[in-house]
Formats: sequence, C-alpha cells, structure tokens
Amino acid sequence: MLKKLNRNTLTASLAASEKAAVRRKEVREELRIKVFYEWCKCGRCKSGDYSHLCLSYREIANTANTLRVPTIRHKEGTWKPAMVSNLFQEMKTKRETETVSLFDID
Ligand SMILES: [Zn+2]
Repeated sequence: MLKKLNRNTLTASLAASEKAAVRRKEVREELRIKVFYEWCKCGRCKSGDYSHLCLSYREIANTANTLRVPTIRHKEGTWKPAMVSNLFQEMKTKRETETVSLFDID
C-alpha cells in the first residue's frame, strides 16, 4: 500500500514537471512572438535561439507587462526580470525552433 502510494506520487510529480516544461515552452513562444519579433535586433532570439539574448531580462519583463503577455501562472502585468531569467536560463544550451523539431523527427 505504501509502495503503491509512493509510486503514484512519483508519477504525479513527473507528470506535473512535464506539464510545467510544456507551459514554460508555451510562454517562451508567446514572448518570442510578441516581444522578440518586435524588439530583437540580433535575429537570434526571434528565431528561437536564446543563447545570447539581445534584450535584458528587465526589458523583456517590462515589455511583457506592457503587452499583457500572461506569465507561467497565467497572470498579466506581474512579470519580473527573475522570472524571465528562469525561463531562458534553461535555453542557453538548447534551441527551440520548428526547423530543429523537423530534423528531430527521424
Ligand atoms: Zn535578439
């Protein structure tokens, strides 16, 4: 019984973290379309390469608030630079584009 409970908890928390990852990707896409399409000057952030953001976390947070882009928790106007940083730190070594996904499908 205890084992079963533990396994269920583990499954649930794995599902929750997968869901959180999907949500972070959704929010990044939203920021890419609404913020980077307009303000990215280097062309990389705009294309989904977040290794060298040409906007500061503060600029992105302020713009996201102005444009009412919802946060991970579906709130508007509450973006903070640290939230933007959390969202993009994990993407420094990854790339998120349609082109790459196409190659990934083998
Ligand atoms: Zn850029």
